[in-house]
Amino acid sequence: MQNTHQTVVDFSFVIPVYNEEDVLPLLFERMDAILHQLNGPGEVILVNDGSTDLSYEILNGKCADPRYRLVDLSRNFGHQIAITAGIETARGKAIVILDADLQDPPEVALEMIAKWREGFDVVAAQRETRKGETWFKRASANLYYRLLAKMSPVDLPRDVGDFRLIDRKVADALKAMPEQDRYFRGMVSWVGFRQTQILYERQERAAGETKYKLSAMFRLAANGILGFSDIPLRIALWFGLTVSLVSFTATIFVFLGWFFGGYVVAGWTSTVLLLSFLSGVQLLTLGVVGLYVGRIYNEAKARPLYLVNNSPRIETIEDVQPV
Ligand code: UDP
Ligand code: MG
Repeated sequence: MQNTHQTVVDFSFVIPVYNEEDVLPLLFERMDAILHQLNGPGEVILVNDGSTDLSYEILNGKCADPRYRLVDLSRNFGHQIAITAGIETARGKAIVILDADLQDPPEVALEMIAKWREGFDVVAAQRETRKGETWFKRASANLYYRLLAKMSPVDLPRDVGDFRLIDRKVADALKAMPEQDRYFRGMVSWVGFRQTQILYERQERAAGETKYKLSAMFRLAANGILGFSDIPLRIALWFGLTVSLVSFTATIFVFLGWFFGGYVVAGWTSTVLLLSFLSGVQLLTLGVVGLYVGRIYNEAKARPLYLVNNSPRIETIEDVQPV
């Protein structure tokens, strides 16, 4: 993208960054050590996802080191899009995606690379423990992964986040998937090829606090379900059918009662209850359909997934802004 001199790179590390000024010095220290241990040339793609703190200045400063490259998005596009931007910029034969906050220890990447050398195209890191996460996050994650596994025809492994290594051919396949609502881990599963997992201990955040608000978590969860399953639509259909069948049967009974016994229900309670129940079902069904229509609308607009600030790559120390 910004950097034009084409060097051969074996390994790319894609790191999305949103307001992580506190953790960046620690991150650089760990990444420098990893780059040193690699048996091949490596690069680090830092994606600034519209940070409002000093992250940009710190990242830019680090890019004086030619192994680091910065993709500066024009605003906050969200974690999933930031990953996409990073993968599209990466040049490595293998690409490792990890969080900036050191919850995903960069050292695990060395194990991933070993697996990649064995011939695997996707090496996902599965969380053995989830340190420093609230019971609510753990419980909801657990429930969600179970639900998703039931609903989706694509095999989505449990407790696997976006921390993973992907081969060049997987990256190219992902680039050819232009969907707007991105659920990265689902897309990687969909792609196929030889996939494997390794276990790791998810650490606590090294500094700062989570950038995933509850609403963003819900959106991600919904993307996982809506993007990889049409079961909600089918549930809506079956629900509608069942209710219609019940009311049809009820009608027959009422009619027979009136015909043989002359019995007519006087109360309005049942009418009101039935009416409100049915409108509830209708709204729910419409809502489910609406979710999918909304996604179609989003795709139809066909906007670019992200925009990049075209700031030239800082090449000399003099250009580096003070940190
Ligand atoms: N992130 C991002 N854009 C956002 C939110 C988060 O690029 O809008 C980055 C963030 O800087 C971090 C990674 O995504 O590197 C994961 O975010 P976080 O650690 O806050 O999520 P959690 O681990 O709590 O789920
Ligand atoms: Mg985190």
